[in-house]
Amino acid sequence: MKVEKNWLMQYPEEIPHDIEIDEKPLQYYLEEAARKHPEKPALDFLGKRMTYGSVYEEALRMANRLRSLGIRKGDRVAIMLPNSPQSVISYYGALMAGGIVVQTNPLYTERELEHQLIDSGSKIIICLDLLFPRVEAVKNRTSLEHIVVTGVKDYLPFPKNLIYPFVQKKQTNLVVRVEYTDTIHSFKKLLEEGDVSSIDIDFDVKEDLALLQYTGGTTGPAKGVMLTHYNLVANTMQCRTWMYKAKYGEEKILGALPFFHVYGMTCVMNFSIMYLGEMIILPKFDPKQVLKAIGKHKPTMFPGAPTMYIALLNDPNIHSYDLSSIASCISGSAPLPVEVQENFEEITNGNLVEGYGLTEASPVTHANFLYGNRVIGSIGVPWPNTEAAILSAETGTIAEEKEVGELMIRGPQVMKGYWNQPEETASTFHDGWLLTGDMGYMDEKGYFYIVDRKKDMIIAGGFNIYPREIEEILFEHPKVMEATVIGVPDPYRGETVKAFVVLKDGVTCSEEELDEHCRKYLASFKVPRLYEFRDELPKTMVGKVLRRVLVEEEKQKIKEN
Ligand code: AMP
Repeated sequence: MKVEKNWLMQYPEEIPHDIEIDEKPLQYYLEEAARKHPEKPALDFLGKRMTYGSVYEEALRMANRLRSLGIRKGDRVAIMLPNSPQSVISYYGALMAGGIVVQTNPLYTERELEHQLIDSGSKIIICLDLLFPRVEAVKNRTSLEHIVVTGVKDYLPFPKNLIYPFVQKKQTNLVVRVEYTDTIHSFKKLLEEGDVSSIDIDFDVKEDLALLQYTGGTTGPAKGVMLTHYNLVANTMQCRTWMYKAKYGEEKILGALPFFHVYGMTCVMNFSIMYLGEMIILPKFDPKQVLKAIGKHKPTMFPGAPTMYIALLNDPNIHSYDLSSIASCISGSAPLPVEVQENFEEITNGNLVEGYGLTEASPVTHANFLYGNRVIGSIGVPWPNTEAAILSAETGTIAEEKEVGELMIRGPQVMKGYWNQPEETASTFHDGWLLTGDMGYMDEKGYFYIVDRKKDMIIAGGFNIYPREIEEILFEHPKVMEATVIGVPDPYRGETVKAFVVLKDGVTCSEEELDEHCRKYLASFKVPRLYEFRDELPKTMVGKVLRRVLVEEEKQKIKEN
């Protein structure tokens, strides 16, 4: 299928259409930075600073110990950590050992964690001590051979309330006693024991996986997206090409996005390390902490999601901080409201533009130009080396300009496929193009627009939520006959989860009862915030619930209010 690349006409001179992608494993950039600039600060974590030399040395010690615990090339190493020095060291250490990183959301419940560990066949998990009880509870049902535990005190005694959101609400005891054994290890001790001899592994960067990144599916449980070293190196280099005003070795990047999501991993962690930046790491997004960190550390870049910029703008104290250091921000993961963009730019004096991506593309494929022609409401144009096209549902070929169809991508950042799911992989590609599941169109200048999600994913507070997973949990409640979940607009979280429930004949049930049930099995960000009990749900002739009708009804209600 031939594509008119009209967008290339919009590129400023400074951005090449095609760049040469390094054929190097991702960890090469940390090694190189440590060799050439060992004293350069690599990260700051609530006052604890580490140089490139020390991050590299600790990652290498970790890699050697992971090897002595049995990790060989291609083995999966799970990481269940909030942003911290440990999360960076574990990630690069696992790669240096030849492992494939499996990022695990610290908010996962036992059920979600168990699925991911079994599916990935992870041999080792590195987790925060507060999350250890959850790991231990599922360990025997998985292929885990070793658990490595790190505590808040391994690097510094930072306030516990910053970590608290990563543990279950009910867990009030924030001190977890861990008994170390032959299979349960202390992170700190492993580093002390690990040697710094170099590890020589040959990588076929286009084939060998660096990462299995789980993403929810509309048709079942989360799938592992296989991203190679080449995919991740490509997206980081593309990011740098876009940010052509960034100066090697001089940028400070705010790490408020979680590194366990591919967006924060590529646009903060990998970007910063590849371009010798300094990461200002925050364990979670908290508007006050972010404002304080900006005021104190003067970061120059702040990749984020719309909800983050909204939360900062809504903070009554925003004007007491000097945010003028922030020069460039790309916002992704959901549509960026115009007024948010304008207000944030006014306060920082920098540029905030909308971009677009998905886990299957490492993740970024499109963005608006930071310095130049931007089109409000558009996700921008494809990045260098990236092709995008709209698939017409009518003709099964490339759509006309402005015709809505499914967005498709080709490029070096596109995944190898889904882990152990050849059928899912096959149906996600069309003639060599990645089908994004997002509906959109391209205008005559080559700018792209997203109009809707083909998949019914809900994005609340930056987290992706798949209705079907919640519906299944609701359905398991003995009093529930039917349940359908949709996203409804929410001024703060972007969207929030609403459940429509039909109860079995003759029973009564309260919202509280359903809430308690959901909280047992779902991470709190997925738990419905709104319920509506109905006698029946709108359905098609074949009995499929008409989710769209419910969505429209909600929109109508908002209009009328
Ligand atoms: P994830 O795989 O978690 O990165 O989620 C990817 C999905 O987020 C995409 O398929 C889109 O549905 C959505 N998304 C990302 N960026 C945008 C954007 N700028 N506007 C609208 N939706 C977006």
